[in-house]
Parts: sequence; structure tokens; C-alpha cells
Amino acid sequence: MGLKREEVFVIRKIDFKESDHIVRLFGRKSGKFSGIAKGARKLESKFGSTFNLLNRSEVVYYQGSSLNFISEGEVLDGWESLKKSGEAIDVGLRCAKSIGELLGEEQPSPQVYSLFRDTLEELDADQRRPRLLEVGFYLKALKYLGFDPDLEDRCLSCGVDIDQESTLQFSPVAGGFLCEKCRGGNGMELSRGDRKSLARLKKLPQSRLRRLRVPERKLTRYYDLLNRFSEYHLERELVPRSLRTAPSDRGPG
Ligand SMILES: [Zn+2]
Repeated sequence: MGLKREEVFVIRKIDFKESDHIVRLFGRKSGKFSGIAKGARKLESKFGSTFNLLNRSEVVYYQGSSLNFISEGEVLDGWESLKKSGEAIDVGLRCAKSIGELLGEEQPSPQVYSLFRDTLEELDADQRRPRLLEVGFYLKALKYLGFDPDLEDRCLSCGVDIDQESTLQFSPVAGGFLCEKCRGGNGMELSRGDRKSLARLKKLPQSRLRRLRVPERKLTRYYDLLNRFSEYHLERELVPRSLRTAPSDRGPG
């Protein structure tokens, strides 16, 4: 029986039988995988808080006939400060959900792993403006997986410099910006400032995003843009619609 040791994020947890958990983990080396933690729900469990959602933990596991069995676990980062903010938790959970959507089973992505760790570290250090980090996370994750939107200052169709135009149109279908001549009916109107903000959110490390002054309503729009882009190019949503609305966005009624 080959034991494996792996650093993981807990991205999903389901109660199983009387005292077990089935967990979805995102490993640094092994990508997404599931495992069963026997007895993890008992009060005196040896696992303690290893499998709290979003935790970065170290686990030891072995492959059974149909499931991985987790035999040891220890918390590396529990993100105590992040977990005091409902909004920061929602952002962390939506990013975790998008990892579930974007990556294939056991598809390793050390870059997305590091990006997720950087994002949670930033949210743990400071709970203000979590959606800046969220939009930055999606843009970079898409880039690492090779599906990122083109945010250059040229029309994707004819190559003309679009930074001279009064308004820009982002086409989710084309996957980038189109000039006034080339644009069609189902794009999103954006400003030159929007294009620059999106390009910075994609390029700058997560630790430097908070210096950007992007209003919340703009971040909501970028979030819609990325979901529309992803629906078209990946045939799936970045984040399922039911989870998309952050509590702060919910209007009356
Ligand atoms: Zn054009």
C-alpha cells in the first residue's frame, strides 16, 4: 500500500455515514481529488479541524479500490482572521468552487495552487475589498490554464489601435476587444479605463492589487464579463449562478 503525503486545500466537504467525511481536496502536486476521512466527525477525532473548508492542510493518504483513504491530517493554515469576515469567506469559497469547475480531475496546477494560497493569505491579512482579489484570481487562473481573455489595446479582428476610440466593446465570443467597425450586437460596453484595470488585475501579483482604485460596481461588471467569457469558451460558468451574488450586492427584496 503506497502512502502519499500531500499539501492540500479543502475545497468541499460532505458528511458521510455516521462519523466520516468525504472531502474534495486540491493538492499542490496532484490536483483535485476526493478522499474519505474515517471518523473525522467524532468529537475526539485525530483529524481535529484538518478538513474545515479553505484550510491548507497536510494529509497522508492511500488509494483504496474506489476511494482514497486519508490516514493522517494536520492544519498548516486555518485562516482565522479571514474566517471572521462573511464577505472574505464567500470570496474564498467562490474561488474554491471555480477551481472545482476549471480544473480536471487530478490535473496538477502548481500555479493555480500558489495563486489560491496568495489570495487566501491576502484575505487573511486584510479583509477589506475582497472582490478585487476575487477578480484578480479568476483572471490569473484563466491565464495559467491557457483560456484567458485578450486584454491588449488592439482590435482582435482587424488589429487597429482601440485606445483612440471613445468606447470599447468586449466580445465574450471573440474573447477580447473589438473596434467600432468590427463590433457586433452582443458585446459589453467598457471604457478605456476598464480595459486598463482588467489588464492590471491580470498582471499584478495578488499582494499588489489593493493599491488599485477600482469601484465595487466595476468589479461586479468584470465578474459578469468573466462569467460570460467562461460560459462561451469553456462551456461552463466560473462560479455557479446560485453562488454568484455576494451578500453585499443583494438589493432590497
Ligand atoms: Zn476591428
